[in-house]
Amino acid sequence: IAARIRDFPTTVFTEFSALAQKHQAVNLGQGFPDFDGPEEIREAAVRAVRGGVNQYAVSSGAVVLKEAVAEHALRFYGQKVDPATEVIVTNGATEALFDATLAFVNPGDEVIVFEPYYDSYVANVTMAGGVPRYVLLRPPDAQHTRWWYDSAELEAQFTSRTKFILLNTPHNPTGKVFDRAELEHIASLCIRHDVLAIADEVYEHITFEPARHLRLATIPGMAERTLTISSGGKSFSFTGWKVGWVIGSPALCGAVQKTHQFVTFAVAGPLQHAIAAALRLPDAYFVELARSYRTKRDLLVDALDAVGLRPIAPDGAYFVMARIGHLGFPDDFEFCRYLTRDIGVAAIPPTAFYAEHHRIHGSHLARFAFCKRDETLLSAREKLLARL
Ligand code: PMP
Ligand code: GLN
Repeated sequence: IAARIRDFPTTVFTEFSALAQKHQAVNLGQGFPDFDGPEEIREAAVRAVRGGVNQYAVSSGAVVLKEAVAEHALRFYGQKVDPATEVIVTNGATEALFDATLAFVNPGDEVIVFEPYYDSYVANVTMAGGVPRYVLLRPPDAQHTRWWYDSAELEAQFTSRTKFILLNTPHNPTGKVFDRAELEHIASLCIRHDVLAIADEVYEHITFEPARHLRLATIPGMAERTLTISSGGKSFSFTGWKVGWVIGSPALCGAVQKTHQFVTFAVAGPLQHAIAAALRLPDAYFVELARSYRTKRDLLVDALDAVGLRPIAPDGAYFVMARIGHLGFPDDFEFCRYLTRDIGVAAIPPTAFYAEHHRIHGSHLARFAFCKRDETLLSAREKLLARL
């Protein structure tokens, strides 16, 4: 097998969803809702299938979806997007991230990623022959009320070989929502070093007040150098549809399209029509999404707290990182396997999201997902209370 993939593990999601199933555990591991997205959007997909939208879509995306992406960007961020030249539709954010990485990274180029990182980022950089450079996100401590990074550490990662920085906000797995000062700092570095930014904003609609999602591309000076990535998976609870998109200048999107055309060519047509309808849902839908996730967050944080796991309440996304170091397990993998097998609650060991030499920073943590029905969260709570 090729050297570029030889060292890839099976993803932690595959391992732990299989383990959860084997032990009939409540699955708070892999992040997928155990409830369906809006009925009217499922109906829109069915209508598109029945209505004959069943041949290859336009490679860069169905016009109706590209227009809906542009309208959504204007509605929520005041961002002007030309649907004809500044949007590419992809098979989920995952393909968008791959396409963007392949489109810009030459062998030896460097990419800056915050650690912990969504696992496909570094795999993508590796497949492109690039070199990841890491910046640690550090948990709250006596001086910091939120997850934070050391600005000198970030500045030191920028070199003459840096191609882009990968930013994920709201952040999986920490729930950090980068604030304006942080985004302006990152923007100033990108501008000073003439570096691109890839902003993975798939959790854009899942934030908890007072935290508020800000779009990196709308920070002055960033529009021309940012590719924004999002997906219908998180905002509309259709992770299985794999409809994502990239927004960026015609030059940046042109490069992404060159990759996209030879990776998947196009995305499932009927689902694009349905996600277009979803992006046009009224504001009330998005308000209710965040409200309902806030309730779920509080439920899970309380449950973890009640059983002596030490949750760090997130500002966004749908994961809680909990401190487990005091429980005496050798590391997070051992703890999560024990929790899944013996307690019946699956969680994800976050060292899967750290570079080998930084694993020490994640091995005292476990990630729990709360994109689950309240009953599911309550049943996890019961199991933890009874058995841990
Ligand atoms: N980025 C982040 C930060 C994610 O959490 C996920 C999904 N778990 C993705 C990208 C992938 O999104 P999609 O399912 O749309 O490919
Ligand atoms: N993004 C989801 C998570 O972080 C899982 C995605 C996947 O299974 N690849 O849990």
